[in-house]
Amino acid sequence: MTRAIDTRIRFAKSVDEREAYLQGVRQLLGVPHAMTLQEKSSLPFSWAKVEVMKRSEWISFGGHTMHHPILAYLTDPSEAEYEVRESRTELERHLEFPVRSFAYPVGKLGDIGEQGVLSVQKAGYTWAVTTEGGINTPQSKPYLLHRFSVDVHHHWLTIAAKVSGVGKKVSSVYNLFANLIKMPTRLLRTYGSKRR
Ligand SMILES: [Zn+2]
Repeated sequence: MTRAIDTRIRFAKSVDEREAYLQGVRQLLGVPHAMTLQEKSSLPFSWAKVEVMKRSEWISFGGHTMHHPILAYLTDPSEAEYEVRESRTELERHLEFPVRSFAYPVGKLGDIGEQGVLSVQKAGYTWAVTTEGGINTPQSKPYLLHRFSVDVHHHWLTIAAKVSGVGKKVSSVYNLFANLIKMPTRLLRTYGSKRR
């Protein structure tokens, strides 16, 4: 059931079509047709939280569309353009500084399509990330950058080695870093402070 709903909304030809379908599902399940207060409070973000993150100066922000449609499947190119452009405008309005980066919803190459890349270029973003795994080099396409996930519990040197692509070129250096994963963070901290 969940998979059937997911497939249907994933390949929606427009945001309206997706929302109409979801309304139907809500009706069938007998749940309120509007978002409940409880649902609202469980949303991942609020502008107040964004403001706190902005003030920390540790976090940067990028666009991700207004309604999270999968850009390649939208029938109307102007809808794809609106979703991408408006997300930038809205963010800039709140943040009061330029937004240059974009992350494609879902983000595999098939979900982005030519239409996705064009919309991002037209909206004036400088670069965009996919969810295709891998490192980036100067030859990478700026609107189709690769990413991979990292575990925040891993030592930062391990993450640095992975990000730099050292692992692929010099396996012995990578192995040295990779072994750091196995050491408890506490031990690494002690070792680090003794060295200073
Ligand atoms: Zn997303």
